[in-house]
Amino acid sequence: MTNTLSRLLKSRDWLLADGATGTNLFNMGLSSGEPPEMWNVEHPDRIAKLYGFAVEAGSDLFLTNSFGGNAARLKLHNAQGRVRELNRIAAEIGRNVADKAGRPVAVCGSVGPTGEIFAPMGTLTHELAVEIFHEQAEGLKEGGADVLWVETISAPEEYKAAAEAARLAGMDWCGTMSFDTAGRTMMGVTSAQMSALVEKLPNPPLAFGANCGVGAADLMRTLMGFVATGTERPLIAKGNAGIPKYHDGHIHYDGTPELMGDYACLARDAGATIIGGCCGTMPVHLKAMHEALSTRPRGPRPSLEEITAKLGAFSSASDGTGDDDGAGRERRGRRRG
Ligand SMILES: [Zn+2]
Repeated sequence: MTNTLSRLLKSRDWLLADGATGTNLFNMGLSSGEPPEMWNVEHPDRIAKLYGFAVEAGSDLFLTNSFGGNAARLKLHNAQGRVRELNRIAAEIGRNVADKAGRPVAVCGSVGPTGEIFAPMGTLTHELAVEIFHEQAEGLKEGGADVLWVETISAPEEYKAAAEAARLAGMDWCGTMSFDTAGRTMMGVTSAQMSALVEKLPNPPLAFGANCGVGAADLMRTLMGFVATGTERPLIAKGNAGIPKYHDGHIHYDGTPELMGDYACLARDAGATIIGGCCGTMPVHLKAMHEALSTRPRGPRPSLEEITAKLGAFSSASDGTGDDDGAGRERRGRRRG
């Protein structure tokens, strides 16, 4: 265990992760439809600036600009031959920023979903998914990423494939799923099911949890679901800065810095160790989160009522855990009505 993230996890009881990648890059001029990973070579200064936002706000780790940097996603832009290069450079820029921070900051190599659907509904196989993730992992490793950071996953098969790719690359990893469909992932996974899945992996992650999804309140409820399973693994909470609203032709997140400060402390008090933002989380939010975590004393584990009082209502009546078909079965491809 020599990577920076493992050392930080041993010495600290909370760590601040970073905020949004997409939202911040759009604010720097990225157009929708343009693959953000191309900016690693076209605008390395802007990517260094993005990473710098997190470091300046007090983050202990940040994710690299490589979320869509796998062959399946880059193929949509005819850049499937550049996986290794784009990921290596994403991590190299990060390494450079982290090494100048003057304190330990972990460079976490972002690995997002392939965008493909597993057989039999789709064409993706375990072997192919492992190969896709492994190629990306090798690029991130080559560029100096401390760990791999698998995020926004909805299919358990894809999570397992990413775990195996991390093993093949010889890297420690973290992995989060996105619970955006009435408390479950798009593929029907509940927080309890994810917890069980993680413990069954031959190479479990250093930390696991949830990112993105609907809003900070929903993410808190998912986090409470992980805690309820009794897991002793560090938990990750990376919630969006409020709820996306369409406004004047672009998406705006309604979460204020104050709300994200409250969310950060609630997440810590509920049992999360790694706390950050996702979509809509700007430097101003991150600074408020750092300030809140650094100055407010730890409190008791919040109730669901306290969460909605501070962060707003949940998007659905339940988080899907414990109702109807129980926690043991996975409901693949079924959205809850
Ligand atoms: Zn997000």
